[in-house]
Amino acid sequence: MAGATFPRGGVHPAEHKELTEHLAIEEMPPPQQVVIPVSMHFGAPAKPVVKKKQEVQEGDVIATVEKALGATIHSSVTGVVKTIESRPHPTMVRCDAIVIDRDPSAPPRVYEPQDWRKTTAEQLLAKVKDAGIVGLGGAGFPTHVKLSPPPSAKVDTLVLNGAECEPYLTTDHRIMLEHPQKVVEGTKVLLKILGIKKAVIGIELNKADAINAMTKAAKEASGQDEFTVAVQGMTVKYPQGSEKQLIYSLTQRSVPGGGLPFDVGVIVQNISTTLAIFEAATLNKPLYEKVATFSGRAIKRPANLKVKVGTVLSDVAAYLGGTTNDLTKIVSGGPMMGFAVSNLDVPITKTSSGVLFLSSSETDTGTYGPCIHCGWCLEACPMGLQPKEVAIYVEAGKGHQTEKFGVFECFECGCCAYVCPAKRPLVQFARLAKIQVKKHG
Ligand code: SF4
Ligand code: SF4
Repeated sequence: MAGATFPRGGVHPAEHKELTEHLAIEEMPPPQQVVIPVSMHFGAPAKPVVKKKQEVQEGDVIATVEKALGATIHSSVTGVVKTIESRPHPTMVRCDAIVIDRDPSAPPRVYEPQDWRKTTAEQLLAKVKDAGIVGLGGAGFPTHVKLSPPPSAKVDTLVLNGAECEPYLTTDHRIMLEHPQKVVEGTKVLLKILGIKKAVIGIELNKADAINAMTKAAKEASGQDEFTVAVQGMTVKYPQGSEKQLIYSLTQRSVPGGGLPFDVGVIVQNISTTLAIFEAATLNKPLYEKVATFSGRAIKRPANLKVKVGTVLSDVAAYLGGTTNDLTKIVSGGPMMGFAVSNLDVPITKTSSGVLFLSSSETDTGTYGPCIHCGWCLEACPMGLQPKEVAIYVEAGKGHQTEKFGVFECFECGCCAYVCPAKRPLVQFARLAKIQVKKHG
């Protein structure tokens, strides 16, 4: 079966999904202590509204963003605030965090189910905001802002990203397989908020079981209301799940350079975010726990875990039997777009889709060489950019002149670096180039 796809570039990295794709989501018992960073979203850091020694309940607001772009943060456990101080962070190196000692005698919080259909679109949007929901697949853009496009935008289609094209990660796959009805209901909540009727869920063809489960759930939920939810299989090709490629694959609409999805009438959400929206709409439950994949050949027991936000990696590793002696690299996120983390003190944040514990056989620690002008990076770039030129300019101290190569269209997917026979760190060069162009004004 041929799937929908995008026209230019892309690569086929080894999937490594066999480590966890058949493992059901397992709930990790809450840790003794959580470390909740005040920055887990795109925008300004949240401001703590709790103090040292203050008692907090699971789900209580502990930090807010008043006037700037950002998202509310909630406690993931019932306990006492131990301290608020700078702690390691998976992407920011360090960040202020609210450290809470859990009360082991406290029962888990129970939420009363509510009928979202009796709630207005405005009330549902307020629930999404109050729940502190951010895009769980990437930079953590506040969802209530994304769901409020300007009136000039003629949005008619919601696209759900079920591609999960990053190697190793199987979080969205398992959610679609185990909770397809919730994903479909969450999709309808989103459609109601947006005031539109049509959604399409794109899933790569390597997840046939998820395609079947979602198709069945969408069919069962059809005819109940004015909303239509379709499921579309997509060719297995990285980066099928990146916004512009996904939109083209599913709607054949091209987002213009420097533009946003709503410029072509589309809003994109991912599967984990949609599940969080379902829980906010039907339970009033804030976002303080999430499903993430813990994989790689250097963790004793790979798993898909539901974990409390703020659980530190050392607790996760201990729960999974520890790491092997061959642990070479820890990556937050997937191997293509994730970030290396230096130790096990970093916490799981709202945007952690997974953590990889990679062995020496899964990492390439060799040095890179000069460009041999093979052109492979040009062929692989889904944006049609010139990564080799960007790199050469940066090396020559002319990174500030790289705008002409479209460097700001680079979304750091890593396809170019993946195919480069000289192992050149082309994504790092692109990042540096962007900084240098901005610095140069
Ligand atoms: S990282 Fe940037 S330059 Fe490289 S392939 Fe992706 S979009 Fe193109
Ligand atoms: S793939 Fe690497 S070696 Fe080949 S042209 Fe691009 S940067 Fe140069």
